Amino acid sequence: MIIDAHTHIGNSFWGQFSPEYLLDITGDDIDILICSNLEGIDSYTGKDEIKCNLEMLNASKKYPKIKPLAICEVDRTENADKIRKLLSEHSEFVGLKFHPEFTKLAADSDKYDDYLKAAREFKKPCLYHSGHIKSRFSSPELIYKKAKQFPEVPVILGHLSTTTRECHERAIEIMVESIENETATLYADVSWVGVEDSIMLIEKLKNTKCGDFTNRILWASDVPVGEFNQKRELYLKNLAEFQTGIYEHFKDKELLNNLMYGNAAKLFRLG
Ligand SMILES: [Zn+2]
Repeated sequence: MIIDAHTHIGNSFWGQFSPEYLLDITGDDIDILICSNLEGIDSYTGKDEIKCNLEMLNASKKYPKIKPLAICEVDRTENADKIRKLLSEHSEFVGLKFHPEFTKLAADSDKYDDYLKAAREFKKPCLYHSGHIKSRFSSPELIYKKAKQFPEVPVILGHLSTTTRECHERAIEIMVESIENETATLYADVSWVGVEDSIMLIEKLKNTKCGDFTNRILWASDVPVGEFNQKRELYLKNLAEFQTGIYEHFKDKELLNNLMYGNAAKLFRLG
């Protein structure tokens, strides 16, 4: 069983991605795809928050292995009322998705508060794009600041802060701090991270002062965003490299299974 905890559909800045295209790349090797509609992030499409999410919902009804996240257009709405209505009417949504970098709305802005309140009310995790440590919109620091205001809400640092080793190190430090001081409930997905830095993340969370917190780590790819995610062979190669690399380093089947699906299944409450 494998869950890809960060995937997308939608026609946007990043490309033209139908649900069928996503399923062609991931194929039978992946059992569940946690997915959001990029059309709600890329404001050039200007598509309404609910319209995007209903399209996402329809795709998930047509292809049940796709589990929808509700995209949040925090930069373009007054509050989270529409998302609240959506979540109350459609229990299929397993979480919320935010992209502070592309929407140019700093992750610590008060505008997110009502959305995080909705996430708390409906007990849904929030997946954030987390960017470079110096980003004034999506640095893990800014996301952490907001996550501390809503400690009950699981907040996922998507990509564990993008780009360099330095960024990954800082994001890991923040995660460890949040665990040891019990200030927030941070998770991370390893899309764009690479095996070596994923091992560093696992080592650090395995050995916090409060014990093993590797349950906070999710395998993910961000497919079909990025060239390496647009060819089935490359996608499978990266998946296999991750599985082999982690297993060879830790020699722990249970840990690997939890990273590949157990942790995500629990977090998103998948049967
Ligand atoms: Zn994403």
